[in-house]
Amino acid sequence: MKIFVTGGAGYIGTHTCVELIQAGHEVIVADNLCNSKKEALDKVTEITGKGIGFYEIDVTDEKEVEKIFKENQIDGVIHFAGLKAVGESVAKPLMYYYNNLVSTMVLAEACIRHKVGRFVFSSSATVYGDNTVPFREDMNLLPTTNPYGETKAMSERILTDAASANEGFGVTLLRYFNPVGAHESGLIGENPNGIPNNLMPFVTQVAKGKREYLSVFGNDYDTVDGTGVRDYIHVVDLAKGHVKAIEKLKEGVNVYNLGTGKGTSVLELVQAFEEGNGIKVPYEICPRRPGDIASCYADASKALDELGWTAEKDIMDMVKDSWKFENGLTE
Ligand code: NAD
Ligand code: UDP
Repeated sequence: MKIFVTGGAGYIGTHTCVELIQAGHEVIVADNLCNSKKEALDKVTEITGKGIGFYEIDVTDEKEVEKIFKENQIDGVIHFAGLKAVGESVAKPLMYYYNNLVSTMVLAEACIRHKVGRFVFSSSATVYGDNTVPFREDMNLLPTTNPYGETKAMSERILTDAASANEGFGVTLLRYFNPVGAHESGLIGENPNGIPNNLMPFVTQVAKGKREYLSVFGNDYDTVDGTGVRDYIHVVDLAKGHVKAIEKLKEGVNVYNLGTGKGTSVLELVQAFEEGNGIKVPYEICPRRPGDIASCYADASKALDELGWTAEKDIMDMVKDSWKFENGLTE
């Protein structure tokens, strides 16, 4: 199939391009490079030996999107393009609602106009809010604590309504848990600008000596050791989940968790990183981070039953591949 990947130069997008190409699909990418670099796609070509059609455009721009649909016989869209920094979304809500919602609507409309029946959307476990773990796809969604999370819940709603109203337009909503790790080649991975918000990039930067210590946000949660528990998933497993999702996409609305089903606490992750890489990660216990929940992990059985997908890599693979990528960075 010819797959149109929006946000394909980003962290999850590049890994998914690799897996799509390796599964025999053709890929075209649109990205405005607001949080990525074109070189990341050159690395995808280096890994796969295959070129990628690239459009440097903003996917909220209806005219530019229409041009791409006219120029290409697209079989499916995977929509990664979006802004994702939770704190920034609180400071700049309109920018987040505009970018993340308009892009979704423009792309869905183009699909319906051009009779493209497969649309895969990057949602997030954040839509479950503070439900009881493990999170299952049939749970009621609860309010999230920030505009970023709301854009995910609203996009799910918009796409659900669009799929219900338009025969032949099928949508799969993928709720990611916590993507970490990097490609085994060490060529692509996550390299956030500025101070990382997420745990794993912060841990690798502390290990590297770029930052003095890790702040552990709270050790008084009702969890195994008091620190927050999350379902970390290797980005290559996540990418493979997208290949299955687009290949097996059924008409109507399909929802899947992409997680491992296993929770890991902050201190367990730090310990795994230290053991796996033989390097110390100094940390300090700090106050809780506002908006955090104690535990978040998936019931991952639906994706296995219906897509035949399950995560294969474990926490050791994740900490080792993250460290390998950090060490390959030049700046
Ligand atoms: P990323 O920032 O690395 O990739 C997103 C890409 O989209 C970037 O290359 C950026 O330049 C591009 N982009 C943003 N707005 C655009 C626009 N209007 N037009 C064109 N390109 C645009 O982020 P990622 O971690 O790869 O995340 C991909 C998707 O998955 C996002 O929608 C994100 O919200 C979602 N998601 C990510 C996580 C996570 O922890 N990484 C978790 C759940 C959901
Ligand atoms: N966390 C932490 N220190 C950091 C970053 C994160 O202790 O510098 C904790 C955070 O409180 C949460 C877990 O690590 O319990 C995962 O946080 P992340 O931001 O990576 O993901 P999210 O909270 O969005 O699931």
